[in-house]
Amino acid sequence: MRLGLAANQLHHGSDDAALFRWLRACERGIRELDLGLHAVGRTHDAIVRAGLLADYPPLRRYPYGREGGLMKLVAEVVGMDGDARTLDGAIYFIDPVDPSSVFPEAVALKRQCVIHAKPFLSTVASARDWIELERMHAGLEPDPGADDLHAPESQTLALIAHDAMKPAMLAYAAQHFDTLSRFTRRVATGTTGQRLNELAWSRGWPQGKPWADRYQSGPMGGDAQIADLVLQRRCHRAIFFEDPHVARQHEADIQLLERAVTTVTDVAVCITTPRLAARWAEAVELRRNRRAGG
Ligand code: PGA
Repeated sequence: MRLGLAANQLHHGSDDAALFRWLRACERGIRELDLGLHAVGRTHDAIVRAGLLADYPPLRRYPYGREGGLMKLVAEVVGMDGDARTLDGAIYFIDPVDPSSVFPEAVALKRQCVIHAKPFLSTVASARDWIELERMHAGLEPDPGADDLHAPESQTLALIAHDAMKPAMLAYAAQHFDTLSRFTRRVATGTTGQRLNELAWSRGWPQGKPWADRYQSGPMGGDAQIADLVLQRRCHRAIFFEDPHVARQHEADIQLLERAVTTVTDVAVCITTPRLAARWAEAVELRRNRRAGG
């Protein structure tokens, strides 16, 4: 597996920056998974300077951003030269007030990951979560350092799906109902929440009791309301099935939510495709069973 890797200046500019917090938490897992990391120039150089991932050939250097490094990652997420230059997703540690985080190549990186159903990991928590879920699928023992990401009884989950993705969201919730029901609270945008509640009631969830607490519909500001929960560190995981193929009237609100997540980078996980959401839910159960000694 190979991921693109980039971090805005803030996230590699000091000893305890986000990039290094992630690497210190996950270096062992990265090596266990033999994960290819294709890092744009400055991000790569910062890793080397910090003495992390030493003698690790799967760490590869790409050009600086100004020389097109991030643009190359986008093309490789789409796929280049068959397998030879194709990435399985991207980690991009975003600082929401860094102007380069909204450059077209940055937006395209996210969008092409979503379109090609590949992980786009924009926060430290998302990138830690991904390493642990791939470790579970690889049959490795749970890392106690990832226990905080597997504590649904004290966490809130947000579920949002654009119209074309609502069937996928309902199918996902039906398939992983027990896993999702373990969260202490679920929140959702208006219409998504209504549909999810109807599903839950049809499956024996107490009638009249919402399975997901509904905020406004997305176009009416529901994304912004959920973003506020995220900023208060009261929502720890967002599963957001967005439709990248249509113009969205509330594009600004969608971006606002995704940037809120990166504002609390150590706390919030954002999952943007059904494929990753399913892979995560399966890993949660694998980990529970292994923890229980099963
Ligand atoms: P909805 O909002 O769940 O109310 O449809 C989601 C969205 O369109 O952002």
